[in-house]
Amino acid sequence: HQKPIATPSRTKEILNKYGFSFKKSLGQNFMIDSNILEKLVTNAGVTGAAGVIEIGPGIGALTEQLAKQAKEVLAFEIDQRLLPVLEDTLSPYSNVSVIHQDILKTDVTHFIKERFPDQEVKVVANLPYYITTPILMKLLMDQLPITDITVLIQKEVAERMSAQPNTKEYGSLSIAVQYYTEARVVMNVPKSAFMPQPNVDSSVLQLKMRKEAPVYVENESFFFDLVQASFGQRRKTLMNNLSRHFKGQMSKDEISAILDKVQIDGRRRGESLSIEEFASLANGLYTYVN
Ligand code: SAM
Repeated sequence: HQKPIATPSRTKEILNKYGFSFKKSLGQNFMIDSNILEKLVTNAGVTGAAGVIEIGPGIGALTEQLAKQAKEVLAFEIDQRLLPVLEDTLSPYSNVSVIHQDILKTDVTHFIKERFPDQEVKVVANLPYYITTPILMKLLMDQLPITDITVLIQKEVAERMSAQPNTKEYGSLSIAVQYYTEARVVMNVPKSAFMPQPNVDSSVLQLKMRKEAPVYVENESFFFDLVQASFGQRRKTLMNNLSRHFKGQMSKDEISAILDKVQIDGRRRGESLSIEEFASLANGLYTYVN
């Protein structure tokens, strides 16, 4: 019986066999700790009924652990050099398909409808760090028919995505992610679990898709623009950031009146506002501007 792919010895053996060299530009840091991967898969709640979408299988370290627990795994890999490797390393598992595609250019909804028509679907991945945020925002904005996303990402990004008001990590990214999901950091993962070791610490972030938005918003793009503007200059007050954002459109007095109406003090900073407060502020301003 062979050792798991996610071990230093097996990984080195596979890399040598194929003369594979890592591409930093593709965020290639492979997992070499199978205990951590087992925990990740358990935390993701992967069961024999689940269809799993994986992004960036690499040489199959996580894919193998998923294949053991899930009904089926569909993995998208951009690096063509990894296709023959995966064909070899994943040959014991008949429930895995690898697709050679850039996830950012993939119509994931289409694949879910075609491959996983009547089952629970989850996304589980060790993401390439250079495009963590674009990948996650794409998956959220596409409103995929999935229950949750469990990903290994840069610790700092995981903290920003799951941050609560009045913390230094809280910002427009926290609101964007938490508008669509309930976000929590599941565990931290040391650099030593990867080959090659990245320069940054990592965490597992879990995003549970919301069935409904947590707040009512009149116009989503207006809301997200307002949130962004409110964090524009973090050290400035809300009033300051708002009057800059609405320059030529609304006077300070008009902005003040709306802040009064929604009972938010303009001397506060954006980082102290909850998502509910941002929603009532956005709705107040939107009604006034339109
Ligand atoms: N899952 C493997 C593991 O845990 O060992 C590899 C994870 S590695 C951090 C990221 C993987 O994503 C690499 O295999 C890389 O080639 C792939 N990748 C990078 N950009 C991608 C993209 N746009 N679409 C799909 N895969 C991508």
